[in-house]
Amino acid sequence: MPDVELEIFCHGSMCVSYSGRCLLSSVMTGRSANEGKCAHPCRWNYYLVEEKRPGEYFPIESSDKGSYILNSKDLNMIDYIPEIAAAGVDSIKIEGRMKSLYYLACVVRAYRKALDCYESREKLPKKVTEELEKISHRKYTTGFYVDNSCRDMQVADTSEYEKKYDFLGIVKKVAGGTATLEARNKIRRGDSVEIIGSDIEHDRKEKIKSLFDCRGESLNEANPGMKIKVRLRCRAVAGDLIRKKNEQ
Ligand code: SF4
Repeated sequence: MPDVELEIFCHGSMCVSYSGRCLLSSVMTGRSANEGKCAHPCRWNYYLVEEKRPGEYFPIESSDKGSYILNSKDLNMIDYIPEIAAAGVDSIKIEGRMKSLYYLACVVRAYRKALDCYESREKLPKKVTEELEKISHRKYTTGFYVDNSCRDMQVADTSEYEKKYDFLGIVKKVAGGTATLEARNKIRRGDSVEIIGSDIEHDRKEKIKSLFDCRGESLNEANPGMKIKVRLRCRAVAGDLIRKKNEQ
């Protein structure tokens, strides 16, 4: 076996065109997939047009909801870290193009924990796999790693994401039990939130009992982009993220 380092793709959206030659996004939107700016037109709905019948749009329907012929599920290999490590893989790749800070924080810390558990021969805690359900994602698959049959790899009825949690904001500073937050979503007084940091074992739950603007005026809610202050009972440090279970 050649002495080269081996990296494999482990988590995230899968591109149907892995050749690097898909020009759909570049041609249709001016955003080049090869520059990391793909607009994902492979997930859109299409009609069939025969060249001698311009203007006649024949529907391509997987179901009454539409057609998603190139709509792959997202890859999720967190349960297979021991097999991946045993196979001699040196590094794993997590898709991060155009993903949010919150998405990346959750996925990276989950895989970090999975690697640490493998190193220390501990069982992977359930909360680690559950963490990957708390980000916006399509249904998961293990792709061709586990099963070559192509069964259960595509979503044929929707290109929507599953989203069970909202990312509310970032802790910018903490002083004397008061945290300064940068809101990334609406934050309301009374919200039950989770405060998460780099270690998945130390997530904390908190109820936002009061919030204030930077001049100390009490607020009922804060809008995305606002800097606000909240009193916290639990420990928090700058860089922690705040999320809330989606009520839908
Ligand atoms: S449009 Fe779809 S298949 Fe083409 S590069 Fe983008 S993600 Fe890949």
